[in-house]
Amino acid sequence: QCPWGAPNTTSISCSLADVMSEQLAKELQLEEENAAFPEVVAVAEGPFITGENIDTSSDLMLAQMLQMEFDREYDAQLRREEKKINGDSKVSISFENYRKVHPYDSDSSEDEVDWQDTRHDPYRADKPTTTPRKGFVGKGKDITTKHDEVVCGRKNTARMENFAPEFQVGDGIGMDLKLSNQVFNALKQHAYSEERRSARLHEKKEHSTAEKAVDPKTRLLLYKMVNAGMLETITGCISTGKESVVFHAYGGKSATEDKVIPPECAIKVFKTTLNEFKNRDKYIKDDYRFKDRFSKLNPRKIIRMWAEKEMHNLTRMQNAGIPCPQVVILKKHVLVMSFIGQDQVPAPKLKDVTLSSEDMKKAYSQILNMMQQLYKECNLVHADLSEYNMLWHDGKVWLIDVSQSVEPTHPHGLEFLFRDCRNVSQFFQKAGVAEALNERELFNAVSGFNITADNEVDFQAEIEALEKMNEDHVQNHGKKLSMFSGDGDPPIYDE
Ligand code: ADP
Ligand code: MN
Repeated sequence: QCPWGAPNTTSISCSLADVMSEQLAKELQLEEENAAFPEVVAVAEGPFITGENIDTSSDLMLAQMLQMEFDREYDAQLRREEKKINGDSKVSISFENYRKVHPYDSDSSEDEVDWQDTRHDPYRADKPTTTPRKGFVGKGKDITTKHDEVVCGRKNTARMENFAPEFQVGDGIGMDLKLSNQVFNALKQHAYSEERRSARLHEKKEHSTAEKAVDPKTRLLLYKMVNAGMLETITGCISTGKESVVFHAYGGKSATEDKVIPPECAIKVFKTTLNEFKNRDKYIKDDYRFKDRFSKLNPRKIIRMWAEKEMHNLTRMQNAGIPCPQVVILKKHVLVMSFIGQDQVPAPKLKDVTLSSEDMKKAYSQILNMMQQLYKECNLVHADLSEYNMLWHDGKVWLIDVSQSVEPTHPHGLEFLFRDCRNVSQFFQKAGVAEALNERELFNAVSGFNITADNEVDFQAEIEALEKMNEDHVQNHGKKLSMFSGDGDPPIYDE
């Protein structure tokens, strides 16, 4: 009897269908791979070189390894020199470009090249020595196959010419050198990965912040803001969405338009790839504030209008005292606003934060208030309100992401409001806030309407009827007389 008890023999159960389908998948993959790599360098036997399996019988290989060792020492020496020169001076000189061996960047392992993939082999020889289809030349004893060492060796040496120009292959190309497949493959792997590493390193230096997420024109805009002293540094990307990229930046000293620049800023860059915005047309096309302009604009300008819209809407909210980012500046499709959060850490979204039931209750009543303020005082419907666009900061909820917000008289404004209400009440009911109104009650509480329908479908129908009524009214009497501005609501803003 084993002192540790009987061995556990239960094996993980797995259905026959699973096993079969896995096998099938493997077979299919093999087939696919075989089709994709029909012409792998002819190392019919013997594995490719791996870490533990280095063929040290070749002099060239040994020389190559020595060279790499030497390069490493050279780089270490460079690093020492660099340190000596720079001391603890604030301005430092980098010898990075002179290094031979590029430091391995760990985050790139996932795009490490599969150098055996000959579909995109950049080192493929231009004029490969022809081996007939049948795979051999000659007759009888003098037969030479494509595996022939001499032919293959010469071919490999010729291929070396196609390595990147920085890759020093020596003058072996002119000689009658015969590289074994193993050595050639090892070299090819080395050359390829060095080239890629070098390219990556370069890329990193060029765009040390996450600015590479934006196009050159936008980058220029951002640089200008930094140059003008408006921003101190752009530290990195907070979020990349379908329609926007948001960066964090430290505010600069110079306040241009007698405005104090907040110590930390969020930069929202509206994406200029247009397709994402197509389905958002309805938010802006039917917004009468932009109606006259819309038809004359090209898509690029429409995107600027999104940024402009967000700015106007934020300003309205700011004026009403709703917690939201403060607008710093708008330049084309780039909106700079105050950062909600601290020390580069953005405030968490309501969906991500764990609140005590007391705080959750507080958050709810705050949001109810904000929605009413937004509607009544700002004459706006958020139109994308959910736990994703509410941040929890400083013990309260902040509203963000208002580029799509519309006025309630928008042809679909009330539908958007109803959707907002549904998101909010579902979130808080799930979070266990007993006070949370249901979506229909919330809609009435925010809008001041008194729709009595007790089910979703009828309620929705009444909302659409209201919208239709308003549209007809606008058609007949112009926007100023619409029902929303008629009964004591604030006048419609002219912007
Ligand atoms: P999108 O249209 O991509 O959803 P958002 O305006 O919601 O754009 O911004 C995306 C994310 O960026 C937000 O969820 C939030 O985490 C962050 N963010 C945006 N603006 C700010 C800000 N002013 N302060 C802090 N974080 C912000
Ligand atoms: Mn958002």
